[in-house]
Amino acid sequence: MCESCSNTSHTAPETEAKEQDMQFAEEYLKRYYDLETDGKKYVRKSGSPLSDKIQQMQEFFGLEVTGSLDSETLEVMQKPRCGVPDVDDYSTFARRPTWKKKEITYRILNYTPDMEQADVDKAIDKALKVWSDVTPLRFTRIYDGISDIQISFGAEAHGDFYPFDGPHGTLAHAFAPSEDIGGDAHFDEDENWTKGSVGYNLFLVAAHEFGHSLGLSHSSIPGALMYPTYSYTNPNEFHLPQDDVNGIQALYGSSPNPVPSKKPTSSSQCDTNVTFDAITTLRGEIMFFKDRTLWRKVPQKSPAEEILIEQFWPSLPSGIQAAYEIPEKDQVFLFKGTKYWALSGYDIVQGYPKSIYTLGFPRTVKTIDAAVYDEDAQKIYFFVADQYWSYDEERHTMDKGSPKRIKDGFPGIGQKVHAVFQNNGLLYFFSGHRQYEFSMTAKRVMKILKNNSWLGC
Ligand SMILES: [Zn+2]
Ligand SMILES: [Zn+2]
Repeated sequence: MCESCSNTSHTAPETEAKEQDMQFAEEYLKRYYDLETDGKKYVRKSGSPLSDKIQQMQEFFGLEVTGSLDSETLEVMQKPRCGVPDVDDYSTFARRPTWKKKEITYRILNYTPDMEQADVDKAIDKALKVWSDVTPLRFTRIYDGISDIQISFGAEAHGDFYPFDGPHGTLAHAFAPSEDIGGDAHFDEDENWTKGSVGYNLFLVAAHEFGHSLGLSHSSIPGALMYPTYSYTNPNEFHLPQDDVNGIQALYGSSPNPVPSKKPTSSSQCDTNVTFDAITTLRGEIMFFKDRTLWRKVPQKSPAEEILIEQFWPSLPSGIQAAYEIPEKDQVFLFKGTKYWALSGYDIVQGYPKSIYTLGFPRTVKTIDAAVYDEDAQKIYFFVADQYWSYDEERHTMDKGSPKRIKDGFPGIGQKVHAVFQNNGLLYFFSGHRQYEFSMTAKRVMKILKNNSWLGC
């Protein structure tokens, strides 16, 4: 970008950047992983306290455990997140702190100028309801005096020993149940708080923080509300993931009047406009993924059975984007974002999720739209935008020449693939509301079908 800069600089810019990254990582590990530095610099080699803490962090986030600050680790460290540490402060105590009562009070001490006050009230109310829906807890708002959960917005130093850090980075923090500051939730005023998807959605962050206010610590399950990093989901479609339900019910028990339980909200399988996020075979069944919903089509059984992904695999996120089966190995792989999971039969294999970059994708690839295993060629085809990558399953490498254009390798199936699976030697591509039966040998589309043709409608 700036050639003259690097030429005139005395230290190589690369070393300088590395040094900056290391300092950033040290700061991160001090904050969230209890790294004690006493102001001294660590020898940055394996076996050092720093490297141990990097390992601990990599384990927590399901990254490859190397103990060194690789780019993927750094990338996760740079994500916006909650200010509460990931290592459990309370592990030395026999019991986790909880409220010893069911009626809990809260008070909103001040407002953010980013949002209408009524929208802040709504977000807070809805965030508390997330927890009261599944427990015997009841929340009552008070307008003066000291409540159990005191809610406030503040920037940088804001009256406790945990100053905020300006925009991004730490978004908020909250304290476990106890007297005084216990239960309180603080939101970094330097963030842009919103009720939508730009900036940071106050409801989503508040729902997470109130988990801490009630005694939960961080979950290492991606997709759990108590996962430490921020990710946006539509608040109107929000449901509390099973991992969080289990966590809070272990502390307080379940709700005496359970809310009529979460029916899948996605469009019906027999709607002719139905689209799918991912499709794969699994031991002779065909599995169709859509948001939180999974339709299982068993041959000779009609219609397909509708279940929630979390009922089947509590640790998987919703919105799986690509999936394929390698039948001869009895393995299924599921993709979301830059992560993928392996199933052996119906069980998630230990050590996952892994990063898609371990498969040989460049960092520019952030999501995979669809994937399929071609049994005859022993290739996996990954579809990304208008291109596809071919991966050699035997040699475990990406084929030279990848990516190629979809319209060259699979003419006639459209610009973008949303889902694809193999059946009896033919590939079935889903693009928009259409389904294309494609023959690899003829290298052409054989038939155009309705999207829901497999679901027994
Ligand atoms: Zn948190
Ligand atoms: Zn604070």
